[in-house]
Formats: sequence, C-alpha cells, structure tokens
Amino acid sequence: MSEQFRAAVVEEFGPRLNLEDIGLPEPGRNQALVKNIASGICHTDVHAAGRDWPVKPEPPFVPGHEGVGEVIKLGPGEHDVEVGDIVGNVWLWSACGTCEYCRTGRETLCNEAEYGGYTVDGSFGQYMLVDTRYCARIPEGADPIEVAPILCAGVTVYKGLKEAETKPGQFMVISGIGGLGHVAVQYAVAMGMRVIAVDIADDKLELAKKHGAEFAVNAKDQDPAQAVEEYTKGGAHGVLVTAVHPQAFGQAIGMARKGGTIVFNGLPPGDFPAPIFDIVFKGLTIRGSLVGTRQDLEEALDFYARGRIKPTVTEVKLDDVNDVFDGLINGGVDGRRVIRY
Ligand SMILES: [Zn+2]
Ligand SMILES: [Zn+2]
Repeated sequence: MSEQFRAAVVEEFGPRLNLEDIGLPEPGRNQALVKNIASGICHTDVHAAGRDWPVKPEPPFVPGHEGVGEVIKLGPGEHDVEVGDIVGNVWLWSACGTCEYCRTGRETLCNEAEYGGYTVDGSFGQYMLVDTRYCARIPEGADPIEVAPILCAGVTVYKGLKEAETKPGQFMVISGIGGLGHVAVQYAVAMGMRVIAVDIADDKLELAKKHGAEFAVNAKDQDPAQAVEEYTKGGAHGVLVTAVHPQAFGQAIGMARKGGTIVFNGLPPGDFPAPIFDIVFKGLTIRGSLVGTRQDLEEALDFYARGRIKPTVTEVKLDDVNDVFDGLINGGVDGRRVIRY
C-alpha cells in the first residue's frame, strides 16, 4: 500500500469537508512534493466546496491555496528551488507561459491556468504538490503561520490596490474588513494612501483602525456613500471591494470620487445594480482584479518581510476546518484562521 496522509477533501459539493486519508502524490515534471507546516483558510475555499462559481472544480479534491511547507522531493526536470526550501502554494498554481496573457505579464488570465486547491489539490493536508515555476518562495525567517495569508489575501489585495491607481495621499476605501480587507488596510497604509474602512461589524472596524485606517464607517448604521463623501469632501479616489456580500459592490459606486477607480477583489456569487448615470457622469472605472502574478507575489511578500504587513492570524487544526467554514459563512471570523500541521 502506498503512503497515506490526512487531508480535508471535498467529496461532494456542499460546505462540509471530509477528513480522510489519501495517497501521497508523486511529483511530476516541474513539480515538488511539499510537507506542509501551515495553511490559511480562505473564503474561496468555501466557494470551491460549495460549487458557487461558474468555473467548477471536479470532486474529489483538496482545497487550500495558502499552504506553506518544506520541499522534500523534486520531480524530473530543472528546478530553481531545492529540497529543504520553504515554499508556498497559491491560487495561480501554474500557467502555460506562452499565451497572449502570459507573454504580456497577465498570467492570472491564462486560459490554461491551474488553480491551487481547485483544479489541483491544495494545502488542506499534510502534503501537497507545487509547480516550482509558480510556487511562492517564502522569505527567510518568516513565521509560517503569519506569512500564509500573504499567499492569497496579501497578493490579491496588493494587486487590487495597484490596479486602483490611487496615489500616496489620496483616499482609498477598503470595503469589507475580513481576511482580505484587514490586510488590504495595511498594504494601503504602507503604500501611502489615506485609508477609510467600511464594514458592518464594529470589531472588524476596530481592527482596521488598529492597522492604520483613519476613518471607519459601519454601513449598518449609516449610509456609507454619504459618510465617505462628507469625510473626503467629494468621495474616495479608489475603492477596493473585498466584501463577501453583493450589496457592497453597488455601494462602492456611491463612495467613489469623480474619475475614481473601483476594484472588485471579493467574489461573492450574484450580481449588483450598476447605475449607468452615476458611472458615466462621474467618469468611473470599474475593474476586476484576480490574485496576482509571480512578480506581484514577490512584492507582496517583500512588504511582509520588511515588517510592514502583519496579518491577524489564529491557529487552528486541520480537524477544525469545518468549524472555520461555518464561521466564514456567518461572517464571524476576524483576520485569518491558519491551520498548523
Ligand atoms: Zn484565497
Ligand atoms: Zn498562458
């Protein structure tokens, strides 16, 4: 019998994962076998298990795309990582490297891309495979638990903030202060922006203030568009939407300044109302942004390595994964839950 290890597996679509033993995979060409130390639990994993998106994974599969671990075996071919290196798996698990998108620095749009914990087994288990051309290289001395959320939440919001084209000294709204948003506040502050946090939970807004947001709006108590308009005297230059409810996407249009850019980072299933008059009259740009390239990832990790970003993490065990899913669905999770193996 081949070697087995414990993993959380999507056997059938639904918000419950099966904890079971599965076979140890053999690294193929350009791949490495990694023994995991940690894995963040992202809201995307809930969507993956629940089959919420038009692009569907095929069960059985192992979710998880914020895994950090040690390379223990290399597959055939040349590699620029070595056995013993600490690496991470990411959402953009691999891409073709040769298509129009890959050639123009937009590899996240590659039609041949594989997604970690979605189309390829991920990090909700003691072992995983990575593609050594696309895996994250974890900076020396990084705390594996703390750095895990940078691999998805960090790079996603960092890229989203770049896409918002908001300059130092200008106003940036971070809408939704969850796993993504609380890291987004820190990146935006580190990038010199004036940060406004919007959420419907006071404790999450407190966390945002602790991380450097200068103004916080509880969208349950007041109209966020009006509050932001008054505070900024005309609206925010950039709005980054990381929220998990579609209403927040519509609200973003009201919070933006004329000529502003709204970036969608969160991926709740559903639609939002887009008032054509406001978009045209205010000259708004609305843009989607999906994770980040390898270069974005390296930059995002560098902010962490320089001490500018400190994700709020709580350690859990692999066996807790279903409880964490419940918390994510109910909105009761502050910061990031990270599995320690
Ligand atoms: Zn994610
Ligand atoms: Zn490609």
